[in-house]
Amino acid sequence: MAQLFFSPHATAGEAPLPEVAVAPADPSLLRDTIGPERAAGLDAAVGGLRSVLGARRVIDVNSTTAGGGVAEMLYRIVRYTRGAGVDARWFTIEADPTFFALTKRLHHLLHGQDAPGPPLDTHAGAYYAAVGERNARALLRSVRPGDLVTLHDPQTAGLAPALRRGGVRVVWRSHIGSDAHNEFTDRAWAFLRPFLDSADAFVFSRARYVPGWLAERQIAVIQPSIDPLSAKNRPLDDHAAAAIVRRMGLRAGGRARERAFYRRGDGTVGQVRRRPVCLYSVSPPPAEAPLVVQISRWDPLKDMAGVMSSFAAGAASLDGAHLALVGPDVTGVSDDPEGGAVFAQCVDLWGRLPLRSRSRIHLVCLPMADAEENAVTVSALQQQATVVAQKSLAEGFGLTVTEAMWKSRPVVASAVGGIRDQIQHGVHGILLDDPHDRVAFAAHAGGLLQDPGRAAALGAGARRRALEHFLDDRQLCQQSALYQSLAVA
Ligand code: UDP
Repeated sequence: MAQLFFSPHATAGEAPLPEVAVAPADPSLLRDTIGPERAAGLDAAVGGLRSVLGARRVIDVNSTTAGGGVAEMLYRIVRYTRGAGVDARWFTIEADPTFFALTKRLHHLLHGQDAPGPPLDTHAGAYYAAVGERNARALLRSVRPGDLVTLHDPQTAGLAPALRRGGVRVVWRSHIGSDAHNEFTDRAWAFLRPFLDSADAFVFSRARYVPGWLAERQIAVIQPSIDPLSAKNRPLDDHAAAAIVRRMGLRAGGRARERAFYRRGDGTVGQVRRRPVCLYSVSPPPAEAPLVVQISRWDPLKDMAGVMSSFAAGAASLDGAHLALVGPDVTGVSDDPEGGAVFAQCVDLWGRLPLRSRSRIHLVCLPMADAEENAVTVSALQQQATVVAQKSLAEGFGLTVTEAMWKSRPVVASAVGGIRDQIQHGVHGILLDDPHDRVAFAAHAGGLLQDPGRAAALGAGARRRALEHFLDDRQLCQQSALYQSLAVA
């Protein structure tokens, strides 16, 4: 889906910032899902923005086109914004691995967690500022004074001062955060604040993530959302989903040389051709075995290793279930330098499990080469899961949780960060009070496997909740309101 090309606005000899090609989609396509009343509200919101903006543009800037919630969401939101007649663009910054090691450390600190990594000293500050300035200069080849630019996450905060000097209105949006401010969050804010002071407005996923020093500034709380019509979330035929899951090695059975077809967004028939980039599995789960699935980046805060240990320790009560830990190809997420090491740790842990546990646990890295094929694969795995797990140790807001809820799956997720806004315990899923509690996690998952009626009721509650609160129309309305207030200010 997302393709990079170089902006025609750059002059010869200057390195332009790569722009992501996004085809427009008419937001009225959402009408059948959200109903006429919400569709009318959406139409009014984006129409209002269009008329206030005039020739000005709205621009999103982040650090990767694939492999994480921000990229996932930006593609859809930019697509609908363009389809509403607003000139919306999406650019990604360019930086080296040293920079992304630094920003990954800031990511962990903003989640309130300590993390190894480069020191946040004056040298790091100068380097961070230089990368931000260089990217801002490149972006200023493509944006005009008065345009509205949203910078996403710590990777992009360094662009804010130069963009403001260039006459651009700047929003900084954080997709991460911590309810409890501590020495680690303080350290990250102390580093970022000199860059963020120049921004015009700020967006957080939860009110409690807003640091005290921003109290007097313009703040919007906007929760992330999903697109019910995307390849990841539109209905997928059960046979197709089962065939895709078999192709990923996560179900036994199927015909010899079975092919896995699906309907592409343009209406043509697609085929999932690729197999996992990595698959650690003794043999595929039997066709009738319940499947517990966690799909996440290979990030320590997603605690894939904790899910595995918990499952291995509680396997006896897990009703013959198998566990699939699924993440992207570790070479496919450019701004996440930890993926390879976290995946290697999981493989090491898996290799040391007794065979009786190991044979019920499967590690999968999905190919990222074709975004639509990847999305359909994730969709099939979520749809075919008996229980979806998200045992994160910290989570700004879990798109994987919403995706599973939309598919009426019973979810067991940690009661951390934004997940607490997504799920009300016992109504839309199960919340694990202490994300480190491996015994309780296995007990919750086992309880759902043994009580299909309760699992189905939670899945139905989850679907209703996702429909009411977490679809893209709500986010588009909130975004339009924020941009309008900035455009007229
Ligand atoms: N995802 C994916 N392939 C993978 C792993 C994750 O497409 O192998 C997607 C997942 O479906 C979700 C996003 O990446 O849309 C992750 O977003 P989330 O908010 O859950 O976590 P983040 O990675 O942003 O911390």
